[in-house]
Amino acid sequence: MKMKAIRVRQFGGPEVLVLEEVDVPELGEKQVLVRVHAAGVNPADTYARSGGGSAKPELPYTPGSDAAGVVEAVSPGVLHVKPGDRVYTARTISGAYAELALASAKQVHPLPERVSFEQGAGLYVPYGTAYRALRQIAHVRAGESALVHGASGGVGIAALQFGRAMGLTLLGTAGSEKGRELAKREGAHHVFDHHDPKYRDAILAATNGRGVDVILEMLADVNLGHDLQMLAPRGRVVVIGSRGDVTLTPRDLMTRDASIHGMLLWNVPEVDEIEIHAVLATGLEEGVLRPVVGKELPLAEAARAHREILEPGAYGKIVLIP
Ligand code: NAP
Repeated sequence: MKMKAIRVRQFGGPEVLVLEEVDVPELGEKQVLVRVHAAGVNPADTYARSGGGSAKPELPYTPGSDAAGVVEAVSPGVLHVKPGDRVYTARTISGAYAELALASAKQVHPLPERVSFEQGAGLYVPYGTAYRALRQIAHVRAGESALVHGASGGVGIAALQFGRAMGLTLLGTAGSEKGRELAKREGAHHVFDHHDPKYRDAILAATNGRGVDVILEMLADVNLGHDLQMLAPRGRVVVIGSRGDVTLTPRDLMTRDASIHGMLLWNVPEVDEIEIHAVLATGLEEGVLRPVVGKELPLAEAARAHREILEPGAYGKIVLIP
């Protein structure tokens, strides 16, 4: 059997994403075949495609970790999902930018009825990252304040929704008016423009000069040095995104007993991953977590999606529809 899938045959710019006809992957032991209704586009997919990501895929490959769809088939012994079930994936074996995606049983999770497939494609990487950063890395406590530095994109919106449920005071930055409106609607108590030369003073003023307890940083190479000056005593920065080097003043950390933590979702230990999916299931059921889909594009336009996800003016998720 054949299916359509995006293939990358050489590392390079978005133009290396080509729609091809390929064999449907065969089910192996403890695996699930998912008919993909929507695939989430994440910045990490663009780094991998260019050959510069944290893990270099073996060529040729089909990109994508976050798919949502319906189970087509399962191998014997897979009991938690069955053909016809709505599911989302947390990584795949064969790639999510395709009509069908093969995943290990552990990578496939039920998708509640109230969540659309397009929203389901914006779940794992953004929401897994946001929860891991806030709870498992920064260990936030209700009553603390958190600055989501890059609140208009996939991870930022997820962090705001989680942060509200965790009882945090939330400050969010976005580069466009539309993005700031979105951040406010999804949970930010205060919003700021990260291009405004005075936004850091405004953030300090909003915390009465104390600073914030936690910063989730989406662009550390631009902001990390200044982040340290916006931290409250014992503040923590979680570096989620960075595209280069940065200069910082260690004394800003020392005077606050502050700390900087890095994280990569791919490093999550199994016990923490189980926690992430349990929290996702509850949050989706209760309507606390509501992925925002900003743009839907046909699968054939994967190259356009890769260009647009790196452009300013983020607005929730970009998803591909096979
Ligand atoms: P996204 O949907 O493309 O959103 C990018 C966000 O960064 C937007 O809110 C954007 O705001 C913001 N941004 C742009 N310039 C900024 C600046 N100077 N200061 C602060 N924020 C700025 O991407 P995403 O999926 O949310 O991912 C965000 C970052 O985290 C990416 O770098 C991604 O690679 C990384 N990430 C890392 C992990 C991990 O495991 N460590 C997991 C997921 C994502 P405007 O467009 O409004 O300016």
